[in-house]
Amino acid sequence: MAPKTRPCPQCRKPAATTDNPARPFCSERCKLNDLSRWLGGEYVISTPLPGPPGAWDHSGNED
Ligand SMILES: [Zn+2]
Repeated sequence: MAPKTRPCPQCRKPAATTDNPARPFCSERCKLNDLSRWLGGEYVISTPLPGPPGAWDHSGNED
């Protein structure tokens, strides 16, 4: 049975998808590398929160 591999998101080297505790990365090192980038804020998502101002204007105001 040939081992399945996918490109490591970190270094693009083939990474085993089975029996690999660091998957989808090729190694623990790449996994930690990616994690530290996340924690470092490099992947900050700058999506504005939904909810226009005034959306609540009519709630609780039924007379
Ligand atoms: Zn890697």
